[in-house]
Amino acid sequence: ATASSAPLKIGLIPADGIGREVIPAAQRVLESLSNGPRFDFVHLDAGFEYFQKTGTALPQVTIDTLKNECQGALFGAVSSPSHKVAGYSSPIVALRKHLDLYANVRPVASVASPAFPNQKVLDMLIIRENTECLYIKSERQEVDPATGLKVAYADRKISEYASKRAGTMAFNMALTRQQLREQKPLENRIWKHKPRVTIVHKSNVMSVTDGLWRETVRAVKEDNPEKYGGVDMEEQLVDSMVYRMFREPEAFDVVVAPNLYGDIISDGAAALVGSLGVVPSANVGDNFVMGEPVHGSAPDIAGKGISNPIAAIRSAGLLLEHLGHTQHALKMYDAVDAVLADGSILTPDLGGKSTTNEVVEAVLKHL
Ligand code: ATP
Ligand code: MG
Repeated sequence: ATASSAPLKIGLIPADGIGREVIPAAQRVLESLSNGPRFDFVHLDAGFEYFQKTGTALPQVTIDTLKNECQGALFGAVSSPSHKVAGYSSPIVALRKHLDLYANVRPVASVASPAFPNQKVLDMLIIRENTECLYIKSERQEVDPATGLKVAYADRKISEYASKRAGTMAFNMALTRQQLREQKPLENRIWKHKPRVTIVHKSNVMSVTDGLWRETVRAVKEDNPEKYGGVDMEEQLVDSMVYRMFREPEAFDVVVAPNLYGDIISDGAAALVGSLGVVPSANVGDNFVMGEPVHGSAPDIAGKGISNPIAAIRSAGLLLEHLGHTQHALKMYDAVDAVLADGSILTPDLGGKSTTNEVVEAVLKHL
């Protein structure tokens, strides 16, 4: 996508709990970008509360509006009921399918802040394949005639098609990050090496599925030596990936993983940079991008006006970045980083006493 003067049509789907606080916060920040793109926001319903009221978690009009009218969206959070509720399934999972958002992109970077003492220094980007692996939910249960006890099975799907798309995004993002680093002042550069893609797998055990994943992602570079020759490629078995990520997270640049491993390592990585309230993500496809904070609906603090809006604001930045407005995204990240570095206006999850609105005001002031 490239910048143009036509307004960007963006769907806003706050959904449940603190989604209703952090999405309006991110909207305010987007609207206040000077010389930024013009926005045409459209408010859309989805979520568990909407399901309880209407019997559907994702109305058709939300899907149609996003598909036919919008370039991107911001999604808040859905409450996940702790027990199975008849007729309910997660709207976010459905949206990823409907819009073909095949990669979940999660930047995890440290920011020097009094809120994060003794924090490890890291700046990595995790790309999680978003459509298959064990999450195709093909499960069944039987009774083992030999023992009379239950046995459960799950299928795991790895396709060359999906692996190649995720792998290609990883190598492209490694190149993009390298370009952005060249624009940033030297002292902010954590990553000082050639761009690098780390492929996560467990092909020593799962040789057929993870083997196909590994081969396919490797082929992205091997088949495009001119384009990706400057990007280092390495591999990590998922268990050693977790170990190394906690020991020396600074060793990673772009990390690409199948759905399940990606889910696990990205929550682990979030723990390295403080609160869930600061970690953004984007669900990215070829024609659409949906920003989504990593945190959930946080029912324990919903409605109190103290939720941390930073993850949502950064997710709005990712949305802009993937729509081609990178310079404005960088301004948003810098404003958020300045608020964290200052440390005097923080929400309670970061040890502060400020409200959601006060944090937004502080971000706007830095913008
Ligand atoms: P869900 O079922 O929607 O995932 P949850 O109970 O798992 O809800 P999460 O949103 O995952 O809640 O949050 C886990 C913990 O982190 C909660 O204590 C919550 O208050 C806190 N938390 C999450 N996001 C934020 C945020 N943006 N600001 C402040 N605290 C947050
Ligand atoms: Mg949760």
